[in-house]
Amino acid sequence: MVGREELCVYQTPDAPVEARVKDLLSRMTLPEKFGQMTQIERTVASPAAIRDFFIGSVLNSGGSAPFEDAKSSDWADMIDGFQRSALASRLGIPLIYGTDAVHGNNNVYGATVFPHNIALGATRDADLVRRIGAATALEVRASGVHWAFAPCVAVLGDPRWGRSYECYGEDPGLVSEMTSLVSGLQGEPPEEHPNGYPFVAGSNKVVACAKHFVGDGGTDKGVNEGNTIASYEDLEKIHIPPYLKCLAQGVSTVMASYSSWNGSNLHSSYFLLTEVLKEKLGFKGFVVSDWEGLDRLSDPWGSNYRNCVKTAVNAGIDMVMVPFKYEQFIQDMTDLVESGEIPMARVNDAVERILRVKFVAGLFEHPFSDRSLLGTVGCKEHRELGREAVRKSLVLLKNGKNADKPFLPLDRNAKRILITGTHADDLGYQCGGWTKTWFGLSGRITIGTTLLDAIKAAVGDNTEVVYEKTPSKETLASSEGFSYAIVAVGESPYAETKGDSSELIIPFNGSDIVTTVAERIPTLVMLISGRPVVLEPTVLEKTEALVAAWLPGTEGQGMADVIFGDYDFEGKLPVSWFKTVEHLPVNARTNSYDPLFPLGFGLSSKPV
Ligand code: BGC
Repeated sequence: MVGREELCVYQTPDAPVEARVKDLLSRMTLPEKFGQMTQIERTVASPAAIRDFFIGSVLNSGGSAPFEDAKSSDWADMIDGFQRSALASRLGIPLIYGTDAVHGNNNVYGATVFPHNIALGATRDADLVRRIGAATALEVRASGVHWAFAPCVAVLGDPRWGRSYECYGEDPGLVSEMTSLVSGLQGEPPEEHPNGYPFVAGSNKVVACAKHFVGDGGTDKGVNEGNTIASYEDLEKIHIPPYLKCLAQGVSTVMASYSSWNGSNLHSSYFLLTEVLKEKLGFKGFVVSDWEGLDRLSDPWGSNYRNCVKTAVNAGIDMVMVPFKYEQFIQDMTDLVESGEIPMARVNDAVERILRVKFVAGLFEHPFSDRSLLGTVGCKEHRELGREAVRKSLVLLKNGKNADKPFLPLDRNAKRILITGTHADDLGYQCGGWTKTWFGLSGRITIGTTLLDAIKAAVGDNTEVVYEKTPSKETLASSEGFSYAIVAVGESPYAETKGDSSELIIPFNGSDIVTTVAERIPTLVMLISGRPVVLEPTVLEKTEALVAAWLPGTEGQGMADVIFGDYDFEGKLPVSWFKTVEHLPVNARTNSYDPLFPLGFGLSSKPV
């Protein structure tokens, strides 16, 4: 047992954080510093790589096969293994492991998958979002992970963007309110906590990451990784406000955006990363690049990687999500510092920021997973919370062909009902992208309740539920026997550029299926999508009721709770619903605003 007096300052838990940072920095060699600035993907994180290159951080992209069905304890075993390699290094600096836990610990089998951000924006309930953050922190930490790449605080300008569902909405004020996820993930900072200083309350909390700095939601035509054309005043008015709220809560990390601002890539913007974020806004945590974000600074990608490294690190990127060619990154850093192209002071600043976050996150005291948290993964309480979120997020767009004859709530004791559509019984579709894999999946991908499961559990004993994924000819011919139909259609999962769309139609002939059924049976449409989509006139006219259910995640009961009237609809549109794609972009800031449904729209199912 090492006596207390033999510990150096950085090893002393109750020494002030800044003293620990300075002490540790003063002991580090250049390779150790470069290692801290390096984040690698778990598939290349061999013990030798971590040990020999002093790697500071490891991440995983999605669940990536063959790891898809790995449970929390499998993740914890893997990450603890990485940590053992890091701690075996000369100074024993723990690594920080990050994952895209963007709606619950979504990569892990059995975790509670909460609705995606656009749905949470519809709840307008900052406290709910904070509670979701706290639940997510427990489930993330249970799997050994210290850092969630969340929240995405992009202010959505155009639903053609494939990341629309990662946004809380189009209104800067609403998005700012919803950043309460940070306090849920990291803990509430104490009153006297200085703005911009990182804060993580304990070993059942995780480091949060506000992303993607800045203006990612404002790109021209909603192109992913595109260009945001805006004055600095517009950035301050529209895209920066959510970051102010995140900094006030002590968000520890910020991720740079792939997008450009007036033609210059954010990863190269000294002005935005250093002068604005760090100097003007006073951010004291660290800035991480996006995945291969440096490679994207050159054309063709990565062709002059050395230049990319120089530009990005000098601009203010502190940790680089390399995530594969770490040897090259470290070699380039070595050359650039030796030649004076990257000043030593810049390296020290980056490393100090990273160490500061590691100290406040308690990683030196709690480097390993806490197995006692495993019981929180997918626990009843978290699933109830997910269900509450689903319930509060549903937006009722239409209720009855006649305003004075509401169609909802539905009769749970009806004799015979038809449930149909591609999205009625598909848990993967309900969860959308960033679930189990980066781009999402279809089918029973994890533990959860589909809309069909939820309806079956909610209806009376004497109600016959007929389910057909696509309505058969026989069913449509004998349609008089049904009291009503619930048709669930929507988007299939996607992520990032794969989701960019200039058409925004409901796939799998969704509109036709809806119209065909609605012409024969009184129909409620449940739209499972990450954003507003085209609502054909026939869909609008022929259906009795229309609900935007967004991407609700694993707790489908929340939908049944509301459609059968146990709870009223509370969701309000967090984005404007456009009429036709030719009108895009349509948001509350666009000129001659003429949406199909305006921002904030949402009916109640209770008669007034
Ligand atoms: C995304 C980030 C994400 C990162 C790590 C990137 O492609 O833009 O949002 O955190 O990958 O998976």
